[in-house]
Amino acid sequence: MQRETSVPVVVWFRQDLRLEDNPALFEASKLGLIIPIYIMDDINASQDKMGSASRLWLYHSLDSLNRSLDGHLKFFCGDAFELLPNIMENSGARSVFWNRCYEPWRIARDDRLKRYLIEAGFEVHSTNGSLLWEPWEIRKKDGSSYKVFTPFYKRGCLGAESPRNPLPVVKNILFSPSDIESNELDELGLFPKNEWHRSVKTCWNISEKAASEQLEVFIQNGLTDYMERRNFPAKQGVSRLSPYLHFGQISPHKVWHRVECEVDRTSKDVNQNIEHFFRELGWREFSYYLLYHSPDLPNRNLQPRFDEFPWVKVSPHLEAWQKGLTGYPLIDAGMRELWQTGYMHNRVRMVVASFLVKNLLVHWKCGADWFWDCLVDADLASNSASWQWVAGSGADAAPFFRIFNPITQSEKFDSEGRYILSYVPELRNLPKRYLHSPWLAPTSVLDAAGITLGIDYPNPIVDIKSSRSRALNAFNEQRTRMERA
Ligand code: FAD
Repeated sequence: MQRETSVPVVVWFRQDLRLEDNPALFEASKLGLIIPIYIMDDINASQDKMGSASRLWLYHSLDSLNRSLDGHLKFFCGDAFELLPNIMENSGARSVFWNRCYEPWRIARDDRLKRYLIEAGFEVHSTNGSLLWEPWEIRKKDGSSYKVFTPFYKRGCLGAESPRNPLPVVKNILFSPSDIESNELDELGLFPKNEWHRSVKTCWNISEKAASEQLEVFIQNGLTDYMERRNFPAKQGVSRLSPYLHFGQISPHKVWHRVECEVDRTSKDVNQNIEHFFRELGWREFSYYLLYHSPDLPNRNLQPRFDEFPWVKVSPHLEAWQKGLTGYPLIDAGMRELWQTGYMHNRVRMVVASFLVKNLLVHWKCGADWFWDCLVDADLASNSASWQWVAGSGADAAPFFRIFNPITQSEKFDSEGRYILSYVPELRNLPKRYLHSPWLAPTSVLDAAGITLGIDYPNPIVDIKSSRSRALNAFNEQRTRMERA
């Protein structure tokens, strides 16, 4: 592309809030004077309206991106289909660049918008800034889409072209002087009205720079033991890159290539850990792939036989689960971690989700909605795919009869109770052997620890054994009904 420096060019930032490895910004900056914009565009999409934690993250991300762009980022709020043509018209720009998003409603909207703009005589350039492999590029030999993760990843992804190299940081951006009417960041309705956000904000450094630093910290401290340590919530064994990846403060291409630099030809052990980490990035790709090929993923069981499953949507136990008051310390720690930090360790996510959909028989959608509101990494693809995976209703899902036991999971992955005590401090004086199941402690031990069950800490809201049998019976009955039908 030829640089015609006086031409204004719109760069529409979306889930790519960065200057490094940003294909849209990179290409646009070769062409002309940049008008960087952000449109708060979820106002019409009721089902995917961003949750509170995401809004908080977005607020700080945009603030940081605006500073990186020397204050030139223009904010808008509303329907992008109506706003963007006006922005183009009013700014005198003839072309717009954006990196693709993959939520079904955004795909449909972007498609319509692109056609409209092209018909109106504008140039539209959309590129891939968020996925290692485009979902439509990975196909089985017969042309159908994959349903199972391992062949998707091994044959489909690893058999396709390697992820492209990341692009350099775009420096010395020339901005268009055009002064179009826009909003202030504070007018986008992102900043929470209550005080809850303070504890979440203190846990994170929200910027593109922080994302890269976080990657380096993980490479130095977590990567070589990733396979083992990633299971233990009290250890610093995972990257915690998920919110940065979701909002695009770091690209998966950068993560992939930076981690690849650590491949050690002499150490099988190191490489196995790296491969495992890549596999997890592969799960992210698989989630997007599923969402692309099954746009109903956030709302409907991928396996229709679960449509008849007796999950409830209204349950007296839902609130106890949300608040971390179930009486099961690992579950309560996880749910409180979520509330206090906007994040939950993956192992604990699986345990709390299994507890909700299996022991409490609450519909996975209720859990997904709560996560959607509370997670700083809330992601339509990964959240929906993961909930359906745990519920057993998804593609390549954990079988329904695999029910995580919160007590044995706790004993195995938090044996010292370090994770539990970070979030359930009321149990701090309880001897370790009772930390995973306080109701088994003799009254004298509870008294000595200053705990009265039901007052200082809840009694278990359900019995694990009988709730497990209830779930399995429901599953078997449903299976028998299906076989008869
Ligand atoms: P790491 O272990 O360091 O992994 C690196 C990256 O790989 C992650 O940042 C993430 O992008 C990707 N990844 C890892 N595991 C998975 C997975 N199982 N599925 C998809 N991508 C994965 N992840 C989200 O990003 N957003 C969500 O809304 C989300 N909801 C979830 C809900 C449930 C019920 C469960 C069980 C999992 C969910 N996950 C979600 C997946 C996973 O828990 C998180 O991606 C992971 O915990 C993020 O921490 P990390 O960055 O330290 O992961």
